[in-house]
Amino acid sequence: MGRQILQNLSEKGNGPNLIACPTCGRLEIDMFPMVARVEEALRDVRRTINVSVMGCVVNGPGEGMHADIGIAGGRQKGILYRGGKVIASMPQEQLIAQLITELRAIAAEDARLIAAGEPLPTGLGGSDAPLHALPMAVG
Ligand code: SF4
Repeated sequence: MGRQILQNLSEKGNGPNLIACPTCGRLEIDMFPMVARVEEALRDVRRTINVSVMGCVVNGPGEGMHADIGIAGGRQKGILYRGGKVIASMPQEQLIAQLITELRAIAAEDARLIAAGEPLPTGLGGSDAPLHALPMAVG
C-alpha cells in the first residue's frame, strides 16, 4: 500500500507534515484518537518535520523509518522510530505518550529558536538522540 498523506498541517516544505495511515483491516491500534493527539501536539511545531503515525507492523515500519519521527502500532506493542531507526518498543499508551513528549520538546525548541532570532532546523536538526529518556528499551 502506498503512502497516504491524510494531514498536511502547513504548506509542503514549511512546517510539520503528519503522515497517517488511512486504516484498513490490518489496523491494530485505535488510530483516530491517536492522530488527534498528535495533531494537537504538532500545532506549536514550526520547523519542517515529517511525523508518521501508522496502524500496523505491515506498512508502519517503512513509513516510520522514512519519517523524522514516527510510530507503528502493534497488537501488544508498537515501535517508535527516530531518525530512521527503531528507538523502542512499548505498549500503545506509552508509545503515543512518548511521541507527544518528543513533539512538545521539538515545539519548545522551535519557540526558543524563534525568540532568539535563530533559524529553525529541518527535521530533527541532525540529532538522533531522543529528547527525553525513554521509558522502555527495545524488546
Ligand atoms: S499502515 Fe497498516 S493498518 Fe494502516 S492502512 Fe497500511 S496496512 Fe492498513
